[in-house]
Amino acid sequence: REPLPRPKRARVMVVANQKGGVGKTTSTVNMAAALAQHGLRVLVVDLDPQGNASTALSIDHHRGTPSTYDALVDGVPLTEIVQESPEVPGLFVVPATIDLAGAEIELVSLVARESRLRKAIMAYPPVTAEDEDRLDYVLIDCPPSLGLLTLNALVAGEEMLIPIQAEYYALEGLGQLLETVEMVRAHLNPELAISTILLTMYDARTRLAAGVAEEVRSHFGDQVLRTAIPRSVRISEAPSYGQSVMTYDPGSPGALSYLEAAREMALKGANA
Ligand code: ADP
Ligand code: MG
Repeated sequence: REPLPRPKRARVMVVANQKGGVGKTTSTVNMAAALAQHGLRVLVVDLDPQGNASTALSIDHHRGTPSTYDALVDGVPLTEIVQESPEVPGLFVVPATIDLAGAEIELVSLVARESRLRKAIMAYPPVTAEDEDRLDYVLIDCPPSLGLLTLNALVAGEEMLIPIQAEYYALEGLGQLLETVEMVRAHLNPELAISTILLTMYDARTRLAAGVAEEVRSHFGDQVLRTAIPRSVRISEAPSYGQSVMTYDPGSPGALSYLEAAREMALKGANA
């Protein structure tokens, strides 16, 4: 594949939308794999107790596996936690175990409870390294809520990647996310920007999807990637094989759309 430009330093991107089932995990996994297939070095941080991103990338995350929980609650360094994907070279994962479900409550009583993920990521040498070990992208897969886990991601990242499902209620609930982002910018992380919106499960045959896309584009303008991800059975089947859609069915429209969306995101970031 054609190599993509490496950003000047690691782009830490928060994949968030408090609505469940909009394609956060699917987009995290496939954008990460697509960037890695283009030759970039990528870290996925699984911040959802369900561990779906870990499963989809064939990463061991049974109870007891060093995980996001240990980094957040006990300050275990990421060097002791990160696993490399067996499928895609250059793709690394901080897995989530079910322990993470308790972290939302355990974090409440800890010092600097909103900035623990930031601290862990910034202390991970490949994020700041100057040599070929340096990471180009860190993608954080958030749970479907605006609790302390997602807050940790919003404090850790500089950019947000918001997947929006092209359906009737798409923009409903987004107001709450945008308010949270404003609060974080005002008090915790002034750097945070909504850089990338990705339309998912797009059905080009329906007028409804076209209408939603138009509404999202008129609201967010250039932040919306031109490439929309089509609704595709291949995309939804791939995780059960522990594969990205690019490995599972390389020529499928779903695979090509994630490759193109990742390319667009990388080229946009390179000019920024
Ligand atoms: P979230 O992480 O936001 O909860 P997921 O990425 O888990 O959402 O996606 C929700 C469901 O929709 C999953 O079953 C997934 O396989 C399916 N899905 C996601 N994107 C697509 C797509 N483009 N086409 C078909 N199914 C999809
Ligand atoms: Mg998810």
